Amino acid sequence: MTWFGEGYQKVEEKDKEIQEAMRAFIPSFFIREEDENVYISFLTGEPITFYEHFVKSKKQSFTCPDSGNPQKGTCPLCAMGNKPSFKGAFLIIDHRLEQWKDKEGNEHQRQHTVKLAKWGIRVLKQLQKLDAKLKKGSPVMPPIPEGILGVPFDVTRSGQGTDTSYTFNPLNPNPEHFPRDFKMPEKDGKPFESLKDAIIDTIKPLSNQKLLEIVNDLTRGGSLQTGSSHPIGQPLNVAMDDDEDVINFG
Ligand SMILES: [Zn+2]
Repeated sequence: MTWFGEGYQKVEEKDKEIQEAMRAFIPSFFIREEDENVYISFLTGEPITFYEHFVKSKKQSFTCPDSGNPQKGTCPLCAMGNKPSFKGAFLIIDHRLEQWKDKEGNEHQRQHTVKLAKWGIRVLKQLQKLDAKLKKGSPVMPPIPEGILGVPFDVTRSGQGTDTSYTFNPLNPNPEHFPRDFKMPEKDGKPFESLKDAIIDTIKPLSNQKLLEIVNDLTRGGSLQTGSSHPIGQPLNVAMDDDEDVINFG
């Protein structure tokens, strides 16, 4: 192996690598306990499920390429002992008006923003029940055939860590307050064919090479801190997320 390459095959390989690394960018839905008047509309009615590693020291999540099965043996984070948790992703519209200043001091704002919402098993079960209940209707509420897709919700969060829970209160689908028109998410200037494609592209795992680099970075940090001569460093055993229902395997 040398430091240079020759021929167009290398160019094509690099191009493929760049294409692979590019992913759709859809902002994540996040809500704090003190947030009020958080109104959302679901754009997808069923979750895309996957396993996700949370790396505490980086405060970052990584999709597990082995769907949470360490027996498959290709995921560097699984190999390190980091337990992934089961997640389901939806696309939603966040109807809040958000305003912020960037580093240069320019003001920005957005409203009715398409976002990616990821929840754990507890909330997913809750949403499934809610969907069925809406479709069925009740003595005080006529059936909504579209289920959770049919009405906007007022969302509140309470509790922290593993005690976090969410409440979804159905609202009147007033199109003036809760418009459902949105622009299909794009990648490289081209709109996705479906919302499902957009979700999958946003959450797809990094390449194993990239994950390996992240793990190497972590273990280097770990062995430096502990002064351990163990070449692999400390297993992470990180399973505490900021999110709900992440089981800590310690
Ligand atoms: Zn994994």
